[in-house]
Amino acid sequence: MAAQYEKLHLFIDGEWLGLDGRKSQPVLNPATGEEIGRLPHAKTADLDRALAAAARGFTQWKRVSANDRSKVLRRAAELIRERHERIATVMTLEEGKTIGESKLEVLSSAEVFEWMAEEGRRSYGRLIPARGEGHRQLVVKEPVGPVAAFSPWNFPAVTPARKIAAALAAGCSCIIKPAEETPATALLIAKALEEAGLPKGVLNVVFGVPSEVSSYLIASPVIRKISFTGSTAVGKLLAKLAADGVKRATMELGGHAPVVIFEDVDPEKVAPLAVAAKFRNAGQVCISPTRFFVHEAVHDRFVAKFTELSAAMPVGDGLDPKHKMGPLANARRIDAMETLIGDAKARGAKVKTGGSRIGNAGNFWQPTVLTEVPEEATMMTVEPFGPVAAMVRFKSFDEVVERANRLPYGLAGYAFTGSTKTATAISEQLETGLVGVNTFAVTVPETPFGGVKESGYGSEGGSEGLEAYLQTKFVSQM
Ligand code: NAD
Repeated sequence: MAAQYEKLHLFIDGEWLGLDGRKSQPVLNPATGEEIGRLPHAKTADLDRALAAAARGFTQWKRVSANDRSKVLRRAAELIRERHERIATVMTLEEGKTIGESKLEVLSSAEVFEWMAEEGRRSYGRLIPARGEGHRQLVVKEPVGPVAAFSPWNFPAVTPARKIAAALAAGCSCIIKPAEETPATALLIAKALEEAGLPKGVLNVVFGVPSEVSSYLIASPVIRKISFTGSTAVGKLLAKLAADGVKRATMELGGHAPVVIFEDVDPEKVAPLAVAAKFRNAGQVCISPTRFFVHEAVHDRFVAKFTELSAAMPVGDGLDPKHKMGPLANARRIDAMETLIGDAKARGAKVKTGGSRIGNAGNFWQPTVLTEVPEEATMMTVEPFGPVAAMVRFKSFDEVVERANRLPYGLAGYAFTGSTKTATAISEQLETGLVGVNTFAVTVPETPFGGVKESGYGSEGGSEGLEAYLQTKFVSQM
């Protein structure tokens, strides 16, 4: 198995740097627990070199025309697409998700590069009518500067892609620290950019102890913008560090998405969509549906169908295409499932299916459905980030809105209804940055993605995703 994985490096100033006496950590296959690679950690001198390269790279890259930057990004997208099967295999080996999901994610990353390649050519300013003859008032959009980006392990391709593509399209340089648990996918994306002609030093990829790397990079005067995807707890820490240097920040943090299923839908038709969304990447998705509020009139039918489909789901090594759900990405998620489900049961929740670990090798957990989950159960408050669906009943619109909005999270929310009036009302009332009405599909490269409340601020994707890497300059010219 180890033979199929990649040799791991740091990528600094156009050089691929290996172990060479650096501290290192193992990368494990979550389906087997086997060590598949050793990841070098950047020394302080490596981080200094990456900062110097990003400073130099910025000076060079911001002068490249938007049109020529676009060509590099589009070529990288082509290379990623050509290599998607290989990159997907590497991703499944390090993260665990099914090979089908990995392929879709890699192809979607290629699309992110293409979208930003085009959007970068549209970073328009404007001309504001002046008060006197010969006077010009110009609004100019400029790249914000070198970026420090931090991406998590659950989407090893698309999360780095969103940050890198937007930064480069805007004319910024970037130092990214992808998650240490899933490093190879991001390195293969960096390789595609290098081969597409990105000048050295414009993109740098480093690894290490996350808190040490992030505090060092964010404190550097070279860095002008932070982008982080991960937990709300870590996001709060990084937002404080960014504030110390008055640095721009995009924060994509945790969620606890409510799904409201009204009485005017066919619950047997909604259940298959809900099961597919729930168990995607074994529930380790920040927009995963987690709290299912089902109207009492359709509750039992919805739960019966959802349970039947969940119990029948083939779980196993993601490399085998017959499996529809892979392992959890790390052993911490197994502990979290045991704690959350144990707490819910102790407070009166009923287990309709699942509820246990599968075997002892790898981090497999059964697709789990809980009903009668009290609001005070930890699972209804803390982001579960695993293959567990909590079902509760509701009676009225106002009651469900209040319960759906109860938490400090505000990333995604979903509703299923046959009524246009209810659809409009619920999309207005949900306090989330993303709303899916009669769909769980809320992320494509051309649309903004981001949360409100403690789920973060700023958007990735869409024209907003580029704007996050631009600053506004006003020029008054007589
Ligand atoms: P964690 O909070 O320790 O780590 C989350 C991510 O942040 C990891 O990729 C980690 O490498 C990184 N990280 C941690 N501390 C950091 C720091 N000081 N500076 C920079 N990066 C740092 O938790 P975990 O056990 O890896 O994941 C558990 C929780 O994280 C989940 O329950 C979920 O809430 C959240 N999470 C969210 C997302 C998301 O897409 N929003 C992704 C992964 C994890």
